[in-house]
Formats: sequence, structure tokens, C-alpha cells
Amino acid sequence: MTSVEPSEHSLQLPLPWQESIWQRFDQYLEQGRLPHGLMLCGPRGIGVERLAKALAQRLMCGAEMSKYACGTCKACQLMMAGNHPDISFLEPQEEGKGILIDEVRDLISRLSKTAQQGGWKVVLISPAEAMNDNASNALLKSLEEPQDKTLLILVAHRPSLVSATIRSRCQIEHLPVPDQHTAEQWLQEVTEEREAVAQSLHLAGGKPLLALEYMQGGSIETRKHFEQLVDDVRLGDLSPMSAAQQCQKLNSDEMLDWFMHYLHRLVSGELQNKPNPALFSFADRLRDARGWVLSSSNINPQLLWEGLFMDWSKVFRQSR
Ligand SMILES: [Zn+2]
Repeated sequence: MTSVEPSEHSLQLPLPWQESIWQRFDQYLEQGRLPHGLMLCGPRGIGVERLAKALAQRLMCGAEMSKYACGTCKACQLMMAGNHPDISFLEPQEEGKGILIDEVRDLISRLSKTAQQGGWKVVLISPAEAMNDNASNALLKSLEEPQDKTLLILVAHRPSLVSATIRSRCQIEHLPVPDQHTAEQWLQEVTEEREAVAQSLHLAGGKPLLALEYMQGGSIETRKHFEQLVDDVRLGDLSPMSAAQQCQKLNSDEMLDWFMHYLHRLVSGELQNKPNPALFSFADRLRDARGWVLSSSNINPQLLWEGLFMDWSKVFRQSR
């Protein structure tokens, strides 16, 4: 299998299911209608960030009439080396952590300077929901006083967690989740595999980049292990505390997603015929935990998972 994990600075192309939105960007550019703030929304694993990068790189590229960043001009060379002064990426320092006010301020001060290469200035923030209130407020100023040839691209996997004022200042684009056929075809092309594609795509809830991650990173095993823990606690074979101990080193945000999928399958009858009403309140509990994990930078994973598994075991104790 060839690895297609792009390096941080490699040039990106839109994915096959993003062609129509890419054409729309084309029109905006031609007609000079590109907004100052653009929020690209969609779940993790469908390539929202890739599209954001492809657009940012295309704007910076110096080639005339090119539909994508050309890869050969001076600007593209600078980008590929990670040295272009007029393009900035802002993301949490560590996965699952927040984007801080000082980082946003730093970004704005860079934006207020004239573009060093004389073209566009582009800033990409991903994910936008990682900004806390202070960081969002700091960012608002640059959205309220936009400068010419400056584009702020926000990637949002959970747009409802982004401050309403920020959302109202941006043009919002919802990115599509590809249909199964398109997703499978793309996965087969990039991985040169056929067998594992359907299973990985199913486990990834139809999100092709997430399925690719499973196929390449071995996290399919981690996920199966996690689902086993959930099963064991459900059946009373494992204590919530021991299950939580085994979750310490895993990514909480990702596990909450897996848990949500597991719950969805359970409710929709794949694993059980009669959905227990307490499952629905537990889904709310998971959603709260997710918001909490995203908005706080110092969560104790042991406590978080002990609490969740404790409530999870109660769901089934009540019904027995
Ligand atoms: Zn170029």
C-alpha cells in the first residue's frame, strides 16, 4: 500500500466529491466575489481541511489561469518549503487542545502587514471550534475590518460550537459527504486495495479520509479494542474503572466519536432489537462530554471515562 498521507506543506487538490464546490470558488475568484471570511463546514474525515488548503494554496500561486496551485512558480516553491510569508495555518498546538488568544493576536498582527510577495494573504484556522471565547473575540476584529486581498478560512467540524458572531461574519459552505460508490472508488485508487475498503468505510461511517486513516494507521485495531471495552462494560464483564484505565492514552475526541457510532448502531438495531430509552439520554451525555473535551484544555481522561463508563453500565442495569 502506498502512503498518501500528505506532508504538512505538500500542495493539495480538491477531492473528487468536492469538484462542484471548487467550481463555485472559481466563479467567486473570477467575479471578484470571494468573501473575506469563509467557513468550510463538514465532519472530520471527508477532507474539509484539504479543500481549505487547496484553496489557500491556489490563491497564493503566482501562475496565471491555473485552476490549482501549479507547484512550479516561486510562490508554490515557497509554500512547499513551508516558507511562504503570506500564508498562515493556525491549529491547536496539541491534538484536542484549544487555540489560544495569544496565537490569534499574533496572527492578526501578521495580517495587518502588507503582503510580502505582493499578492493575497491567507489565514487558515482549523478547527475553528477549538478557539475559546477570548480567542474568538480577538479574531472578530479582523473579520469586522477586512482588508483587501485577505482571506480568512475557517474549518469547522462542529459549526454549532463556533461563536455565533464569528459564524455571522463568514460565508458558510457545507461540504458534502461522498456517496458510497465515490468513496469506495477513491479509497481503492489511493490504497490499491479492494478487500479492506468496504469494512473500513463502514466503520468510518462513510467518511473516506477517516477510513484511509484506519487502513493506514492500524487504528482499526484500536477502535475494535475500544468497542470491546464498551461491550464488556455493557455486559457487566468489566468495571468502569478498569475500562477507563485502558482509555487513558487514547484520543478522547476520537473515542467519543466511536462511542457515538456504536450507540447509533445499537439503537438502529444492528446489535439489539428493542432500543432502550435510556440510550437516548446517554447519547446526550456523550454530546455534552464532547463539547467539554473540545472546550477545556485540561481534562482528566481517567475521570472523564470513569464517569462515562459508570453511566454506560447504569443504562443496562436499569433495563435488566
Ligand atoms: Zn504556483
